[in-house]
Amino acid sequence: MRVFAASLATETNTFSPIPTDLSSFYGTFYAPPGKHPDTPTLCSAPVVVARRRAREDGFTLIEGTATWAEPAGMVSRAAYEALRDEILGQLDAALPVDAVILGLHGAMVAHGYDDCEGDLVEHVRAIVGPDVVIAAEFDPHCHLTETRLANLDLQVMFKEVPHTDFADRAEELVDLALRTARREIRPHVAVWDCKMLDMLPTSRQPMRGYVDRIRALEGKDGVLSISVVHGFSAADVPDVGIKIIVITDNRPAFGNQLARRLGEELFSLRGTTGHTYLSIDDAIDAALAEPAGPVVLTDVWDNPGGGTAGDATFVLRRFVERGVTDVAFGTIWDPLAVRLCMAAGVGATMPLRIGAKLAPRHGAPVDAVVTVKAVVPGAVQHFQDSVVPLGDSVTVAFDGIDVILNSNRAQSFEPDLFSNLGIDPLKKKMLVLKSANHFFGAFSKIASRIIYVDAGGPYPGDPRKVDYKRIKRPIWPLDADPHGTGTAAE
Ligand SMILES: [Zn+2]
Repeated sequence: MRVFAASLATETNTFSPIPTDLSSFYGTFYAPPGKHPDTPTLCSAPVVVARRRAREDGFTLIEGTATWAEPAGMVSRAAYEALRDEILGQLDAALPVDAVILGLHGAMVAHGYDDCEGDLVEHVRAIVGPDVVIAAEFDPHCHLTETRLANLDLQVMFKEVPHTDFADRAEELVDLALRTARREIRPHVAVWDCKMLDMLPTSRQPMRGYVDRIRALEGKDGVLSISVVHGFSAADVPDVGIKIIVITDNRPAFGNQLARRLGEELFSLRGTTGHTYLSIDDAIDAALAEPAGPVVLTDVWDNPGGGTAGDATFVLRRFVERGVTDVAFGTIWDPLAVRLCMAAGVGATMPLRIGAKLAPRHGAPVDAVVTVKAVVPGAVQHFQDSVVPLGDSVTVAFDGIDVILNSNRAQSFEPDLFSNLGIDPLKKKMLVLKSANHFFGAFSKIASRIIYVDAGGPYPGDPRKVDYKRIKRPIWPLDADPHGTGTAAE
């Protein structure tokens, strides 16, 4: 048996002002064939798992390129086509193969391509023909399209938000792909469209229970895998939205019925699944009222993991204006300020203009006289087993506030973000992050309380306020009754 594996991934926020080009991929994560590290990245875990299974099971694995760009705005046509053609060329040279296993994200949008992953798998199918298994792992914040359904035998999404299970789902995907290639199973993919947009964090109820119920259904009655497509509502493309996938071992009627039942249940939970957000001032008041720290406040709508810049200053500005101290910000993206601080060196005191340099929706820069406390070339943080580059980074201090400035856009994942930049996170009363969900696993272990802060932007957090032009209607909450059942929605 011969298996080809590769990974091509980013998440495109079509409202973001930051273009994505080849340097965005090369600068974030780029592993040519055979050079993928043994640790998985969020979307390339299938390559690592396939490598291990090849050793254990004794098949031949041909590795292609694996690459990932930090989520941002539209991908250039040239960048997408170059990376696609690089992987297709590697696949062509690897023929014949019995299976193609891909690590994708599923929300990549390029100029000229609403559905990059659909285009990729359509090309893969044209190369390998109808009988070869094509399987892909996706981030649940993806767009499920007809083109993907027509060309993929298997698709598995992470179940957890935050995405703590990307490696486990890769194991599942690779296993299902190998069993399909050996003709042990015949996957049938059933889909039900919930016709809704919502946030579905699984670290809290009711989604925690929903995911646990789904997991209990897998592995019996011929159910091979169940996925919830959460969708990515910061993209104005036709196929945005929440959908259910049920893969059975050739039980189409049962699979369709189960997908519908799970979809209707999820639709009934609409509007109840998200976090509770506080305004900036309410969040500061609540944090100050806590007897012990560190209180973690996260700026959910400037999460670079959702394609924003990570340089918005709305929260920092209010801390400065209110004179609140004993707080560390990790991070604000500002490569220009980092360069100036590195040139000045540790211990230097200097005037600095911080953040909000990219777009008007990000607030206004904060001007301060800062002291450079730490300079770390090529700084990193962890996200479980992955090492996440922050780029050259510095810590500056002023008015009782520490701010980490980084030069590679990255959301806040784990507390070593602070300790690597000379700040003991346990000694601060408050830590301010830029992340929507992924910080939760590691920071919940040290936080006295976690507060989700709604600073108003720049991410389009409320679909009702977004000027969508291309999204398929009807869809809740833009339309009250998308399924035409006559039942009123709120
Ligand atoms: Zn995601």
